[in-house]
Amino acid sequence: MSFEPVIGLEVHAQLLTASKIFCGCSAAFGGEPNTHVCPVCLGLPGALPVLNRAAVDYAIRAALALGCAVHRTSIFARKNYFYPDLPKGYQISQYELPIATAGVVELQSRGEPRRVGIRRVHLEEDAGKSLHEGFVDSDRKTYVDYNRSGVPLIEIVTEPDLRSAADAAEFFSRLRALLVWLGVNDGNMEEGSLRCDANVSVRPQGTTPLGTKAEVKNLNSFRFLQKALEHEIDRQIEVLGGGGRVVQETRLWDSAAGRTVSMRSKEEAHDYRYFPEPDLPPAIVDPEREQRIRAAMPELPEARRRRFVERYALPEYDAGQLTQTRGLAEYFEAVVAGGAPAKAASNWIMGELARALKERNTDITSSPLGPGRLAGLIALIEKGAISGSMAKDVFEKMFATDRAADAIVAAEGLAQIDDESQITGLIAEVIDRNTDAVAQYRGGKTSAFGFLVGQVMRAAAGKANPRRVNDLLKRALDT
Ligand code: ADP
Ligand code: MG
Ligand code: ZN
Repeated sequence: MSFEPVIGLEVHAQLLTASKIFCGCSAAFGGEPNTHVCPVCLGLPGALPVLNRAAVDYAIRAALALGCAVHRTSIFARKNYFYPDLPKGYQISQYELPIATAGVVELQSRGEPRRVGIRRVHLEEDAGKSLHEGFVDSDRKTYVDYNRSGVPLIEIVTEPDLRSAADAAEFFSRLRALLVWLGVNDGNMEEGSLRCDANVSVRPQGTTPLGTKAEVKNLNSFRFLQKALEHEIDRQIEVLGGGGRVVQETRLWDSAAGRTVSMRSKEEAHDYRYFPEPDLPPAIVDPEREQRIRAAMPELPEARRRRFVERYALPEYDAGQLTQTRGLAEYFEAVVAGGAPAKAASNWIMGELARALKERNTDITSSPLGPGRLAGLIALIEKGAISGSMAKDVFEKMFATDRAADAIVAAEGLAQIDDESQITGLIAEVIDRNTDAVAQYRGGKTSAFGFLVGQVMRAAAGKANPRRVNDLLKRALDT
């Protein structure tokens, strides 16, 4: 019997607000432990939460981009559990009435486009962080840092619509790109601003009822997500194939061992005793507010990709690459606005510029070479003023300085020799000095031609337009 995997993801994304969701403390990552704290996020008795409007606006922006319906009224709930990093003894989250539901994301990399339903988007606060290592007494003590306690998150829950580990990884990567594009999340998975739990089950191919699922936690990279799912799918198929049953449980991905391990079973699962948060009124989103957020939304990656194909006649591949990030897309359009042909701009951005940025370990938004100067370089190539190989030299110099292409070309005498009489003069000298090669060529030894071209290029210190040299040399030798 063959089995089909069924996967649904729960993604936590930190919202890029300046302050936390229910107090004025900084939400920034990386402060000295317990410096971004106050009575509210430390859960001290009597402290009351006040909802951060910016967090709600970001959540709405993300929800709209995911095609969700935003609810006029949503309510906060207490999710009760005991853990040292949760000072109140409960997390403020949303349960029965989340901020948004019923969205969709399309995948299209392999084969048919596939739709992945978004079940819900809800707002919640993050917990603190237990520090089990790094202190002299770490063998006996665990410390807690509450800087992260109360940082705003959205949780995005998909329908069980994903059908392979690769699809799950693609979905997560598209979701990350979208959230970063929208400016609601920084996409930094190492710092924990984007985290993913994967729910997975398998069922006999061709059947519809869902199998028993396991939830795999702790997946902080695309590769781990894919690997963990591949292993978990294989494990479940093996269990079922051997006549056993999959147990509903939470598992952890052990990246060192390359397998998932059981963390807790259904019997040990938390009973969160959800109930509405009495300290917060419902969050109300009136239609004007939703409209204002919709109007301020940047053009989305998918729409921009299509526009790049239609408006600039770019190949699908280029359009896809150039819309990986908003910074890249904007840079490209600025180079084109600077007068460069679209395909030439695309080639330079995806080729030399991408390589140079990578070497410097930086990205397009902090490129030392701006789009205006790159357009200037492309203009010189288009005019035939410099050759392709010279252009690469000029590019390096532009990247390392703030000089313009034409200034570099003039100062370094790099301009390409394209002038007919100048090249003809060089050819005449070369013919005079290489009578043997000329005779060989005229005697039918075509390889002598390449040698003569080389001699002319040498005489021109490499600056002559090679196509022009070819044409003129041929004319000179054949007449
Ligand atoms: P729970 O109550 O255990 O949290 P939910 O019904 O809330 O489960 O679903 C959580 C996530 O698990 C969602 O992304 C959902 O799509 C996915 N999911 C639910 N049932 C299954 C299943 N049988 N197989 C795979 N994924 C599932
Ligand atoms: Mg759940
Ligand atoms: Zn605080």
